[in-house]
Amino acid sequence: MKQVRRPRISGSGMHRIRKNIGDVVKQVGAPTHKKEPVIYIPDIKGKLEKLGKRVIKEDKEFKSLGWVNINYCYRRPARFDKDGFLVAGQARRMPVQARDLFKVDFVIEMARDVWKHLSKEARHRLMWHELRHCQVVLDEASQPERDRHGRVKIKLDSHDLVVKTFREEVRKFGTAGHEKAIAKFLRKQAKAKADELNDA
Ligand SMILES: [Zn+2]
Repeated sequence: MKQVRRPRISGSGMHRIRKNIGDVVKQVGAPTHKKEPVIYIPDIKGKLEKLGKRVIKEDKEFKSLGWVNINYCYRRPARFDKDGFLVAGQARRMPVQARDLFKVDFVIEMARDVWKHLSKEARHRLMWHELRHCQVVLDEASQPERDRHGRVKIKLDSHDLVVKTFREEVRKFGTAGHEKAIAKFLRKQAKAKADELNDA
């Protein structure tokens, strides 16, 4: 098995949970065959769905997801994005045909080989992350907007905290532009969370 170039995780439309997944990366390794066919494994026991529903219920921000149907599944093998990050989870917006015929609006897929190694907390966070991508377009009265066929309008939200650079670049030049704001935000949040845990 080939080793991953660096223990990095994440990518576009996916989770970013280094702390708990760092060790998993080594176990999953890089794909042995780039063209290895993918298989999607249904959530037969309903474990993903159960967690997804709990996460939705617990978070007011997810209330609008009550308007859509979400399907959950596992995928094998795990995928690496173009930047070489391991993709642990992914949210997909279903095309109109699948929405109409199968009544599925979003699919959340988890990399099976990653998922099975994750702690309860890491699974919860990853599920939250993928659900956060799934959005219902709401009007001013917080009701879903609909298209001319009555379908609820949906979209996939992009990450709002993105840094695309090189370690060496930051070492050499420091943070630039929006990276400064991100660094400040991360420092503040990390400290707040650490204080919160110390107080607990
Ligand atoms: Zn994501």
